[in-house]
Amino acid sequence: MSRILIAEDEERIASFLQKGLKSHGFTTSIAYDGDEALEMALSAEFDLLILDLGLPGKDGLAVLEELRARGKSMPVLILTARDSVSDTVSGLEGGADDYVTKPFRFEELLARIRARLRGNREGEENVLHAGDASLDLRTRRADIGSKTIELTAREFVLAETFFRHPGQVLSREQLLSRVWGYDYDPGSNVVDVYVGYLRKKLGSSLITSVRGMGYRLEEKASGAETEIDED
Ligand code: CA
Repeated sequence: MSRILIAEDEERIASFLQKGLKSHGFTTSIAYDGDEALEMALSAEFDLLILDLGLPGKDGLAVLEELRARGKSMPVLILTARDSVSDTVSGLEGGADDYVTKPFRFEELLARIRARLRGNREGEENVLHAGDASLDLRTRRADIGSKTIELTAREFVLAETFFRHPGQVLSREQLLSRVWGYDYDPGSNVVDVYVGYLRKKLGSSLITSVRGMGYRLEEKASGAETEIDED
């Protein structure tokens, strides 16, 4: 299991990141200012640091510089509202591995985190299963029985969220915040639309609708040749 340190002073964003990462199987810690971030990063082992640049105390670039100066080589992903070219360049020159600007979508951040962790993720599962369906996190494809199904990036993240919580009812709000991010309009029906796409591709018996509550991935469903049109 990968451990991620989140250095972010905006509570809403820190807790959004923490929830999202936890639901994808990561262990997280939060530092709310630069000095705390530096101290935590130096004193404990983390597999990756998500670093806001605009932090109280030491700013993000100073934290990064000191970490590298002290020989800490963990991947650092800068997360910031400062999207100017000069900040990007100083971040990358200062030893950051990647850069995501706010506002960001969780799925994008997750993809970048995974890309950075690749190579030291032996402990993590690469294929998730439910019934005769499986989801390969490396190829980003789904298999139902012997059939391989291509998913779009968004469908994949939604599917992954279900496969990480088999048998559990996930509400629209949970899915919206995990897959679409904190800036998405809570009144949107985008969750239903995308669940519909997934059910068409994976079979409607795999993801069922729980009236008034949300959706659930059925652990024992056979998605195989089920037809999709009855709803
Ligand atoms: Ca900040």
